[in-house]
Amino acid sequence: MTTPLLITPLLPKKPAMVHKSILNESREIERAVTLIGLGARLQVLESETTLSYERLLRLYKEVAGRSPSKGQLPFSTDWFLTWQENIHSSLFLNIYEYLSKSSAGEDIDMLIKAYRLYNQQVLATEVEALLSFTRAWRLVKFVDAHMLTMTTCSQCGGHYVTEPYENARHFVCGLCSPPARAGKGKASGGLRLH
Ligand SMILES: [Zn+2]
Repeated sequence: MTTPLLITPLLPKKPAMVHKSILNESREIERAVTLIGLGARLQVLESETTLSYERLLRLYKEVAGRSPSKGQLPFSTDWFLTWQENIHSSLFLNIYEYLSKSSAGEDIDMLIKAYRLYNQQVLATEVEALLSFTRAWRLVKFVDAHMLTMTTCSQCGGHYVTEPYENARHFVCGLCSPPARAGKGKASGGLRLH
């Protein structure tokens, strides 16, 4: 008894399919190169492309000119909730959510766009970009997993990254109510309060 299923894989692939997969692969390589350029960790590349670990590693060394840093990705949500980091995270997430609502495209491409805009924003105000691309990527994952959310400040009406159970009636953001020592440090590149 012959089964047609066994014969099918031997047939040559349709040229259109081959063409499509090459295009797809080149798009993935291009995306990986962009991500490496933005300083993304290897784990981000593994998650956002279908390229093999070996290929990504080679690509990383070629583009970045060094081996990727080892170790775990930051897992805690705490970083995004500390004062200065929270303001940077909130700025980025506002841009990201605005882009997601106003334009179509894949999430990762939106993230790349939003991260570039975030960088432009902080550069224009001569503030050091505290949020790395990997952190920004992680932040979006935390929001998707409902481990972090955005809450409206009851004083200024701005949207800030908070824990999901923050009481919106009483929430006051880090700019309206900065910690006692905030902005008094002499470190350059930090946020200054007037
Ligand atoms: Zn506020």
